[in-house]
Amino acid sequence: MLFKGPVRQLLFSFLDSAVEKKSKRPPALNKPIPQPVEEAPRSDKETPSSGRDAALEQQSREWLTALGVHEGSIKVQVHWNAKLRSTAGYARWPLWKVELNPRLVEFDGQVERTLKHELAHLIAYTRANRRKIEPHGLEWRKACADLGIADESARHTLPFPRTTQARNFTYICPVCRNTVARVRKFKQRTACLLCCKQHNGGRYDPRFQFSLVRNSEL
Ligand SMILES: [Zn+2]
Ligand SMILES: [Zn+2]
Repeated sequence: MLFKGPVRQLLFSFLDSAVEKKSKRPPALNKPIPQPVEEAPRSDKETPSSGRDAALEQQSREWLTALGVHEGSIKVQVHWNAKLRSTAGYARWPLWKVELNPRLVEFDGQVERTLKHELAHLIAYTRANRRKIEPHGLEWRKACADLGIADESARHTLPFPRTTQARNFTYICPVCRNTVARVRKFKQRTACLLCCKQHNGGRYDPRFQFSLVRNSEL
């Protein structure tokens, strides 16, 4: 404590002289002047947006060719679909189109696994030749095994959010102060169910109408 004042002063004066020194130094013209970084560098884990993925299509073509699935190797398309939420991937038959959830890149190896899962659906359908088959039945299992994912399960266990939408709207009941958080605004007048049940037999009662207390979107 005793030395706090002087030490601080010392530090300040040191910093002052350091700044002074720096500012007095003429800029080195032969050295590149560092520019402020406006954006963080792209990381390889960055979520792809939407659209076709040429590299994944090429990979798919190679797998399909190796399995002798000629039609598929010509037609196959692989798209990222940012609208997929809890779904990892989607196979569109007979379009030979696979849609992948961009969040898959956050999980090691899951882009390839999901791509194979979906391709297995298309392979199974084309091999079935219009015979009706179960989506995750024997034919699909066989195609999975052919693609090297014999242990694949019908449903993914990735921790994708059921909903990724923020609940930006908070409403409060004027009587019991019960609050509800909503993704969207109520389209109609909405009242507190607890109070309506307790005081009005569960029917709408304007006395308990929710009012908006927070709108984080604004
Ligand atoms: Zn499936
Ligand atoms: Zn209430």
